[in-house]
Amino acid sequence: MSLSPDFSRPQLVAVPSVCHLCGAPATAGVTTVLHPSGGPPRHLALCMPCDSGRPGRGRTDLGPADDLWWVLTRDAEALRGAFASGEWVPYPSELAFAEALALAAWSEDAIRAAQRAAPRGRLALLLDNLALVLRFTPGHDPAFTPVRRLVDVLANAARDDW
Ligand SMILES: [Zn+2]
Repeated sequence: MSLSPDFSRPQLVAVPSVCHLCGAPATAGVTTVLHPSGGPPRHLALCMPCDSGRPGRGRTDLGPADDLWWVLTRDAEALRGAFASGEWVPYPSELAFAEALALAAWSEDAIRAAQRAAPRGRLALLLDNLALVLRFTPGHDPAFTPVRRLVDVLANAARDDW
């Protein structure tokens, strides 16, 4: 007899009402399964934007990059907001770096190499998480849309500086 739960059978589970990733109110009926290295699988609630935006979307379980993707997305959107409001004024070297990043093919190796040449600043702080998510997710995946949006905005600002 197997002791592991049979997920093909309907079961009553208590699912928290906030999104596991972002903490916003969860969308009713949107859940995922976390398989911890020790202990039984846990059902987790998600909100619709996280469920449809995460690299592991379409999977019933939480993907290996989903948690980091959320941190990366949050940080990229915060940075884009800070740039738009003028609270963050990137160094010209950061804008030039963003311009190169916008044109590059994204992979973990490419971002790690870029990281070594990246100018110090708030943009550089995103690169570690970006590289880690790229380990599990192809660079053209829509999950990177918030980061691409930030990079494109900065690249456009670099071009406007000419
Ligand atoms: Zn969420």
